[in-house]
Amino acid sequence: RARELGGGRQSWFDPAMHAHVVERVRMEHDLRGALSGKTDLWVAYQPIVEMVTSGLAGFEALVRWNHPERGNIPPGVFIPIAESTGLVVTLGTWVLREACRQIAIWQDQREPGSAPLFMSVNLSTRQLADPNFVEVVREVLRETGVEPSWLKLELTESAVMDKAEQSIRLLQELRALGVKLSIDDFGTGYSSLSYLHKLPIDSLKVDRSFVSAMHQSEENRAIVRIIMDLARLLGFDVIAEGIETSADANLLRALACDYGQGYHFARPLPPEEAGKLVGGLLSWQTP
Ligand code: C2E
Ligand code: MG
Ligand code: MG
Ligand code: MG
Repeated sequence: RARELGGGRQSWFDPAMHAHVVERVRMEHDLRGALSGKTDLWVAYQPIVEMVTSGLAGFEALVRWNHPERGNIPPGVFIPIAESTGLVVTLGTWVLREACRQIAIWQDQREPGSAPLFMSVNLSTRQLADPNFVEVVREVLRETGVEPSWLKLELTESAVMDKAEQSIRLLQELRALGVKLSIDDFGTGYSSLSYLHKLPIDSLKVDRSFVSAMHQSEENRAIVRIIMDLARLLGFDVIAEGIETSADANLLRALACDYGQGYHFARPLPPEEAGKLVGGLLSWQTP
């Protein structure tokens, strides 16, 4: 019968396709529920270190979903669903508020006079498109008592480069608040070099794929070096993600990379664990 309909895999009763749709609808339903109760969602914090000293510089907030029946569902699975349904706007605001609340507490626990920690929060394209977004950020900063300069918003290249002119205006408004801006997964999207120098941003985050490939060939090292040179030329800081070995860390130090993040230093941690690093009760080996 499928063949009669001109079928193959696309026909309306394709069981695999049907299962896929059911799965998505179910996940969307469950995510909506989780968002209204917020019981199964939590935020993990991955340390970001200053490469020269290996000292703690800040954290990246990474959302986690502990599904009551299915256990942990990775953000790589549910964020795309949240994006396609628009739920990511509610989710993103919740993560932003949670991360700001947390950094305000941690900042209070720091020794007086020590440099403030920053908190990086990922943004989705949908949030940028929300006309209330700047107001939401302003309000969250106000209610949590967070200094704007402690907050670093991570945007992907595609989020910024689609509608570049419009994005630049929005980024300027955010920057006028005093918030820091970073391009995430740099090198994997399609940044136009003619826009890159116009972007009011503070840092580039080199994608993990380049960091993990560094040891394979001189070409791969050259890519990382070129991103560093480009960043310096444009006046941006560089953060390398996915640092898994001390060899990775040493190579990046030799390239004068500013900040690093990866399993070599620490995994994304539950708030209680991350808090121990803030208080200086736990630390990693310095080089
Ligand atoms: P991302 O923003 O590029 O975050 C870095 C990802 O790399 C995280 O994956 C982190 O756990 C992982 N990672 C860090 N160090 C290492 C390492 O040394 N080795 C390896 N193999 N992986 C490492 P995670 O937490 O699964 O998040 C995946 C993506 O989901 C994030 O990529 C981000 O795009 C998105 N995401 C996470 N939380 C949020 C959120 O609150 N809002 C939005 N819009 N997106 C989020
Ligand atoms: Mg990120
Ligand atoms: Mg990233
Ligand atoms: Mg990434």
